[in-house]
Amino acid sequence: MSKRLIFLGPPGAGKGTQAIQLAESAGIPHISTGEILRSAIAAETELGKQAKSYMDAGELVPDSLLLDLIRARLQEPDATSGWILDGFPRNVSQAQFLDQLLVELNQAPITILNLIVPESVLIKRLLARKRGDDTEETIQRRLVVYREQTAPVVAFYQDHQLHSVDGDRTPGEVAQALSTLVNEA
Ligand code: AMP
Repeated sequence: MSKRLIFLGPPGAGKGTQAIQLAESAGIPHISTGEILRSAIAAETELGKQAKSYMDAGELVPDSLLLDLIRARLQEPDATSGWILDGFPRNVSQAQFLDQLLVELNQAPITILNLIVPESVLIKRLLARKRGDDTEETIQRRLVVYREQTAPVVAFYQDHQLHSVDGDRTPGEVAQALSTLVNEA
């Protein structure tokens, strides 16, 4: 079973839900940059203060706030035997950084899981979620940011083990499909 997994997919695709479940069953940490940033905002840390306005606007926070953080997190003791990344990389420069970092840390290879969900379904799901940055305006902006900055990451990973999974099913069905894939990868 592959133990270094990256979840790709637009906001609302179910990355968080699926990643948490898979991480728990595989006994590896779930590393969500969105969660790390939300905790930093709640704790009013320097990182949180710098990230808040970008997150509220539906924009990506600058790479400079995240790269060292990811480097440190992947070297924590609980991450040496595997991890699931959720929300990172979010643009091609983060993907390039991660590629180099994993070579450096001797943590290759990786498996990429790309959740595919139609935009109309994403909007309905995000509006139902009622998170702080899930207002109608911010949702639209996050979908544009996804198309412009994050979708190219899928092309970047074409040569890696990239698996596209239909995310427009019940969480249980998606979880089943993912677990079959991951066990074979
Ligand atoms: P998420 O919880 O993954 O939906 O992320 C929520 C918000 O956190 C995003 O809209 C971004 O503002 C910010 N964020 C999370 N991960 C990243 C990342 N890898 N790069 C830049 N911004 C991020």
